[in-house]
Parts: sequence; structure tokens; C-alpha cells
Amino acid sequence: MKQSEIRDPKIEPPERLLTDEEAMRHALALAERAQREGEVPVGAVIVRNGEVVGEGWNRPVGSNDPTAHAEIVALRAAGERIGNYRLCDATLYVTLEPCTMCAGALVHARISRLVFGARDPKAGAVCSVAHVLDTPHLNHRVEYAGHVLEEECAQKLTAFFRERR
Ligand code: ZN
Repeated sequence: MKQSEIRDPKIEPPERLLTDEEAMRHALALAERAQREGEVPVGAVIVRNGEVVGEGWNRPVGSNDPTAHAEIVALRAAGERIGNYRLCDATLYVTLEPCTMCAGALVHARISRLVFGARDPKAGAVCSVAHVLDTPHLNHRVEYAGHVLEEECAQKLTAFFRERR
């Protein structure tokens, strides 16, 4: 089977990811994949030198793994792809503000920049309930920015939880 046949065309990245918005669209497509699998729709993508080096979507239920958040899945994929446990000069895009565990993992991975979509008022550990990345004792700074395609990212989650009720 050719590579093109086993990949979902909807999540095939564009030739080059130039803007934060394009990368976030890719993360949104991965969030949809989580949703199809019955998981909370969150997607993450890691870009380095304009190239996607890791993808992940939320899958703790399906994989019986409480740590299988989209960000962690993407970090593991990128580490494997690059052949290094440190992902310097990489940007992680995620549709939802990371939780405490994921924010900590970004620091361990030496991710340079984080871009997220929707804020998470209940568990967001970047700027909502905690400010993990601004903790003064950390030996690595992760630059961060939010609100990229915020509306679409939030809408996906709201629709998911509305359907579940
Ligand atoms: Zn998380």
C-alpha cells in the first residue's frame, strides 16, 4: 500500500507550514480524529524548520494511558522522528491550552515556542488556573501565544460536550 493510501487526506499537512494559523488548522484536523475515536477533541502538531515532525491527538481512553494527551503523543512522535529527547527550535501547536502535565513536558522537551487555540478555564496551566511556564525556577523558557483560531478550537470542544450530555 502506498503511503498516500494509508493517510487520511484531511490531515495531510500542506507543502509548507508558514503561518501559525495553517499549523493550527492541521492541529484542528487531528482534534477531529480524536473526536472520531470518541476522545475529547484536542489535537497537537510540532513544527521545526517549517516541517511537521510530530502529530498527536488526544487518546487516553483508547490507549488506556492517562498521559496520552495530544501534546504528549506529539512530543513522543517528534522525539522518535528527530532521534533526540530534546526538541530545540521546535514549536508545538495545540488546540487547547495545555494542562499542568503537558506544560511540564514542554519544558522537559525544550520546546521553544507554544501556540494554543482555546483557553481552558478549568485545567489550563499556561494562563488560566496556573502559570507553569512562567515559574521562575525553571531552567528553560517556553515562549507562548494563545488565541490562534480560538473560536474554532473552542467550538469543537463545546459541540463535543454538548453532544455527550
Ligand atoms: Zn495535557
